[in-house]
Formats: sequence, C-alpha cells, structure tokens
Amino acid sequence: MNSKLKEKIFKDIQAVADRVNTETYVIGGYVRDLYLERPSKDIDIVTIGSGIDFANEVAKNLKPRPRVNVFKNFGTAMLKYKDLEIEFVGARKESYQRNSRKPIVEDGTLEDDQNRRDFTINAMAFRLNGDRFGELVDPFNGMDDLNNKIIRTPLDPDVTFSDDPLRIMRAIRFATQLDFEIENETLKAITRNKDRIKIVSAERIIEELNKIIMAPKPSKGFRLLEETGLLAIIFPELQNMKGVERVNGIGHKDNFYHTIEVLDRLVPNSDNLWLRWSALLHDIAKPKTKRFIEGLGWTFHAHNFIGVKMIPKIFKRMKLPLNEKMKYVQKMVGLHMRPIVLSEDIVTDSAVRRLLFEAGDDIDDLMTLCEADITSKNRRR
Ligand code: ATP
Repeated sequence: MNSKLKEKIFKDIQAVADRVNTETYVIGGYVRDLYLERPSKDIDIVTIGSGIDFANEVAKNLKPRPRVNVFKNFGTAMLKYKDLEIEFVGARKESYQRNSRKPIVEDGTLEDDQNRRDFTINAMAFRLNGDRFGELVDPFNGMDDLNNKIIRTPLDPDVTFSDDPLRIMRAIRFATQLDFEIENETLKAITRNKDRIKIVSAERIIEELNKIIMAPKPSKGFRLLEETGLLAIIFPELQNMKGVERVNGIGHKDNFYHTIEVLDRLVPNSDNLWLRWSALLHDIAKPKTKRFIEGLGWTFHAHNFIGVKMIPKIFKRMKLPLNEKMKYVQKMVGLHMRPIVLSEDIVTDSAVRRLLFEAGDDIDDLMTLCEADITSKNRRR
C-alpha cells in the first residue's frame, strides 16, 4: 500500500471500487499536493464509467451517509465527508472548438483523462483498486517535473493553450504560487497563444490574478505576465507603467518594477488582498500625469487623485467588486503619499489630525503600505 494515501476515505473508496468492479483513481491537484506536502482537502476521483453512479455507491457506504450533489450537465457528483470535499467524474476525452473553452466531452480511458489535464504535475493519478492500491500512474513524468520544479504541458503546448487559454493564466499562477519555472517550449507557446486569452471570461482571469497577488512573491507572476505579452492584454494600465523616459539625460524610475517590488515588500506584513491591490494601483496614474519640468525634473503631479478616479473603470472591467472593497482601495491610493509628506515636512498637529480623520480605522493599513513604498524607494537610491 502506498503510504502517501493516509486518509481513511481512500480505503472506503477502494472497498466500493473493488465490489462494483470499477477502475478508480485519485487524480490531479490532490496527488500533486501530497508530494509537495501542501495539505489539501479537495479530492478528485476519476472512475472508468459513471462518476455519478459511483459517488452514490460510495455515499451509501459512508457513515454518516453524506448527501451527493449531482451536476448532471457536467457528469460530476460531489460529496462532503468530514472536512473533505470529494468530486467524482467519469474518465473523459475532450475536444475543443475554436471559439469556446467549453469542450465536447465523450467517455474515455484514464489515458484520455490524463491527456486533457493542463500540466504534467497535475496529471498524476494513484490507483485505488485491489492490490495495486496506491500505485502511481504518471505517463508524462510529472514526478520528475515536480522534483525539478517545472511547469510543462503533457501534450503539445500550442494545442493545450489554444484549446483552453485559461491554462495560460494557470501556468503563470502555479509558477508563482509554487516557485516553479515554466519549461521553455511551454513558455514560448504561452507567448504565441496569448491573444487566445480573449475568449476567457474576466471572472476566471481575475480568480487566477488574485491567486498570483496572494502568492509569496507576486512579482514573479507579474514579470511572467509582462514578458509573455499577457499583461498588455489583461491589465494595460499596469503595462503602461513599464519603461523609463529620459530628458536631458534625466530619467525617472521604472514604475512597473517599482510597483511589483512594493507588492512583494507588502507580503510579509499583510495578507489582505485589497491592501495588495492598493499596492498594485498606488502609482497607476503616473504614466498619465508624468511631466518633465525644466529645473525640477520629472513630476507626477496629483497622480494619487487621478489614480483614485481610474480605479472604478479598472475594477469594473476586471469584474472586481465595486463595493466598500473598491472604496478601501481608492482610499489607500488617494492617501498613499500623505504619511511620506508628513515625514518630510514640518509636521503640524492639524495635518496629522486630518490624516488620522481621513484614514480612520484603516490608518494602520495605510502605514503598512507606505512602509513598503518607502523601503522600496530607499533601496533604489
Ligand atoms: P488549486 O486547487 O490550487 O486551484 P488544482 O490543480 O487542484 O489547484 P483545480 O482547479 O481544483 O486545481 O483542478 C483540479 C485538477 O483538474 C487539476 O489538477 C488539473 O488536473 C485539472 N484541471 C483544472 N482546470 C483545468 C484546465 N483548465 N485544463 C486542464 N485541466 C484542468
């Protein structure tokens, strides 16, 4: 028996699989995360045959008997048992049409099912039947890629990405979350297929982008997005911040790299997604407000206020919430220079009182953001 499959549920599933004589596997993210020692409570089970019928059989044998939620259209069933969420699906073969990331689905073999997976590290399966319980089925050497920290598609990457371009975002997200490198041919195919991202809904894109933002080093993901040309498509305002202009030999800092550095610096001090968004947007209006003034150099007058005004359009397009979360980000962006100004000027009590009043309960968050911003500037000097 494979010692990796510790949860008792796998023995329960094995008993049913052997009794109803159904080839059954645990597959995908759960297997990957077992090896990465990232505890996961989401289990995907693939059966050769109906996943829904099998889920019902498994539920009957569990105590207390869980409710089975059936998604007929997708041919899947889900049940919650203790703290686990277990999804059952019949092995399938998928084929795609050009204008949609929704595949045509047919019943298939385990091999077909592994072929439709996005990355080699996500295509590994453990067999759950009989005396081969716990045997790893790894046709694309996902284990080597896991050990070498590599993201690679199982099949031709141009086909994998063109079929479902959400996988482009997932590749960059996994590379960022796990600190893996994207294999060269896979990376080149991302660049070649970047325009296919246009068939992916804003909701799915933002889900991945938020996972990049919440990763231990988000700048890695933003560099990849920029280098592959995706950033210009999904977040042109951030792309516009890249580059340094020079007049009379005087340049300004590259605001794209500055911004993602601020975001990285915020990570150890805050896991508030909206404060991280504030870091990403704090200088967003710098390209719009940039002026070179003789004798003074580069200025970005009122970039904080213009930034506040740009936020609703960005949030709307990206399907981010337009509620108090957006208002919070606007507040942070609007106020982000105030603590710095106070620290540089002769401080009057009334100026401090005004800032405390305007920031309200969010004053600590504002100071955390400013600290990441100032530290980043100092390092650059
Ligand atoms: P996470 O839970 O962090 O999102 P995950 O890999 O578990 O990671 P899920 O979205 O739960 O992600 O997907 C489970 C499995 O389904 C993946 O490991 C992969 O094998 C497969 N999968 C998910 N989305 C896709 C996709 N767009 N294309 C191909 N395979 C996919």
